[in-house]
Amino acid sequence: MDDGLSELIEVSRNLGRRVAYVQGGGGNTSLKTADSKMFIKASGTFLADLKDAAGFLPVDWRMLRSQLNDCISEQDYSALLAASVMVSNNSARPSIETGFHAILDKCVLHSHSIWANLLSCTVEGENLVYSLFPQAIWVPYVTPGLALTKKISKKTGVNKKQIIFLQNHGIIISAPDPESAWAMHESVTRSIRNAYPAITDFDETQNFTSGITTDGLLFPDQAIYHSKPELSKTRAGYETAQACSFLLKSVAKVGLTLCYIEDSERDVLLNMESEKFRQKLVGE
Ligand SMILES: [Zn+2]
Repeated sequence: MDDGLSELIEVSRNLGRRVAYVQGGGGNTSLKTADSKMFIKASGTFLADLKDAAGFLPVDWRMLRSQLNDCISEQDYSALLAASVMVSNNSARPSIETGFHAILDKCVLHSHSIWANLLSCTVEGENLVYSLFPQAIWVPYVTPGLALTKKISKKTGVNKKQIIFLQNHGIIISAPDPESAWAMHESVTRSIRNAYPAITDFDETQNFTSGITTDGLLFPDQAIYHSKPELSKTRAGYETAQACSFLLKSVAKVGLTLCYIEDSERDVLLNMESEKFRQKLVGE
């Protein structure tokens, strides 16, 4: 197995095992192992289920990094992602979040941590992030995919250790190797938990027979997994409901104010071609 890939698998499973960090097929991880090769989680794969290199796709990160700025539309971006795949005869696709993995450091972890989202889904979040983590970067909400990749590339440097909070979405850790990326992810989680001792824990065993009702969209996966009853009843649907329920209760408990994604974004997310592919995988 390529250098460091077994460490990446271990860290990915650590992330994926915790509903508090990733719900359903969400979240993704990557590692640049050789000259131009980057292993990235395949779209629709559950991080918790990764056992070997099969759940990852090798892509050419140098090609992505040099051509991302030429992409104008999501179609251009999808075509570039497909062209960057370094194996043939493969029906799997790289995650739509591959773009920002390509422009960051050697190992990148992206989670939909409920602890990060406790800040990133609130009106007060940006100020709280900068006071708790002065070195962190705050990225205002944009649609996952090309728009998010471009926004991140404007705000960050390459090959640097970085903590990036994505408003109404989650967190990205960029580090030189999987162990230090995981350590940074855990350290951020600890700091947020220490700042809010009134929030005791996240109940991973809590179950839902139907979706949770919120006043709006808290994060992108909610638009997908709570759009249809058949998706709400999948593992991803239940876990998304658990995350929503936690945020509704916890944000109120510590006196913060929830902020929502604009309602018009719901249709954008539901219509994205790559999301349709993921819905199909989840539904199978
Ligand atoms: Zn994400």
